Amino acid sequence: MNSGHCICPIELSEKAVTCDLFIIGSGMAGMSAALFAARKGIDTVLVGLTSEMGFASGVIDLLGIHPVATATRVEDPWQGIKRLCRDEPRHPYARLALSTIEAAVTTLLDVLAADGYPYTVRARRNQTVVTPVGTLKSTYALPHTMAHGPTVLSDRQPCLLVDFPGLKGYSARQIVTSLAGHHGGFQTLRIPFPGNSGECYPEQMARALDTVSVRRKLAAALGPHVGAAAAIGLPAVLGMYRTQEVMADLQAAVGVPIFEIPTMLPSVPGLRLREIFQQRLPAMGVRTHFQNQVTHAQRLTDGRWCFVVAPANESEAQIHVLARSAVLCSGRFFGKGLHADRHGIRETVFNLSVMQPKNRADWHHKDVLHQPGHPVNRAGIAVDELFRPVNDHGQPVYSNLFAAGSILAHQDWMRQKCGGGLAIATAYGAIDACTRGLG
Ligand SMILES: Cc1cc2nc3c(=O)[nH]c(=O)nc-3n(C[C@H](O)[C@H](O)[C@H](O)COP(=O)(O)OP(=O)(O)OC[C@H]3O[C@@H](n4cnc5c(N)ncnc54)[C@H](O)[C@@H]3O)c2cc1C
Repeated sequence: MNSGHCICPIELSEKAVTCDLFIIGSGMAGMSAALFAARKGIDTVLVGLTSEMGFASGVIDLLGIHPVATATRVEDPWQGIKRLCRDEPRHPYARLALSTIEAAVTTLLDVLAADGYPYTVRARRNQTVVTPVGTLKSTYALPHTMAHGPTVLSDRQPCLLVDFPGLKGYSARQIVTSLAGHHGGFQTLRIPFPGNSGECYPEQMARALDTVSVRRKLAAALGPHVGAAAAIGLPAVLGMYRTQEVMADLQAAVGVPIFEIPTMLPSVPGLRLREIFQQRLPAMGVRTHFQNQVTHAQRLTDGRWCFVVAPANESEAQIHVLARSAVLCSGRFFGKGLHADRHGIRETVFNLSVMQPKNRADWHHKDVLHQPGHPVNRAGIAVDELFRPVNDHGQPVYSNLFAAGSILAHQDWMRQKCGGGLAIATAYGAIDACTRGLG
């Protein structure tokens, strides 16, 4: 891929699409950026290949661990972010006021609630959830389907954990074994998923439970086993589009609260988020091109960006887009926003300067499990206070190019447990800065 300041060498098709804002990437950062832009009435085009969203557990972390060197769990994420910004002033969160981070997350959660998929948060506290392998994790916002889980843990309620034969990578017994040191009040139950005798696929199970007859059968199978349980935990497959109805019907039938525990991949709560964005953004006026790739970016002499978008399949023509500004939300190595080879790490769309260790030998610490993490995990695009990528001297490279999400440098979202929050908050910050630029 190429980029540079020059007259666009791309032979522009007469049908070139024009827009005020072009967003690259359809992960949490790109989708959130498009949502925030649409709410401001900005004429937006979004292009993105498959994102990590279908893999994410669906819970939204703000800050779960700080400092990572001591693996200290953060109780109050807002106080934690204050400490983080003091200790790591180059962290992307430090580019934002706490009130801006809060506005970003609240705005997104309000949209999800309005779409029938509310999240629960506790005032100024992280919540504890069980992972698919039975470890505990601190997070900020939980989909309503998982809301009761933290209460079961904090009140040590007697609880029935259910799994299904054929659902790979999810074992109620393994979770209970792992949790034994924390809470001994779990029983397990394995029952066939209604209408399924072979392998179970989370997405198909969730879609099946959207239908009344399937959830009635599941409720009938669960009912006789409730016993003394004060709650029932199930893998996160309780509906795709109708989660509120699924939860209400199952709880009414079994008589106790139920809650979801995240599964291994693919993750239904992640897919639900993706589905909501994919339906909601076009309805808000965003022109979306999912499963398409930006193959070329060029800056015109008048300052606009010219992009080439490859078609999703060969029978379609490529698209040319002329944009007044752009936000890069292309993710890291998995998302393909960054590419690593023997010579170093490069950014794949604009060939921006990537903040990285000087030598490849310094990418990783000798100890694979080195608690503070590896330097390569903090490599990425450094930005100024307006989320504009900067060069090696710290100067913004373009006045109308912004970056957000996991591609940003000076953060380790995986260890810090801040993936979703960082994506949403930096997208908000980038759109804010971009709006000012667009006037
Ligand atoms: C397994 C897993 C579990 C996770 N669990 C959690 C969790 O429990 N809580 C939490 O808060 N976060 C979690 N996350 C993290 C969270 O999902 C990510 O931090 C966040 O999605 C990063 O978003 P992003 O949009 O910056 O990047 P990505 O999700 O990587 O998205 C980048 C996007 O850019 C696209 N792209 C790249 N190059 C191009 C191009 N040239 N043209 C078009 N498109 C392009 C990619 O295809 C992709 O759509 C998890 C992530 C993973 C992988």
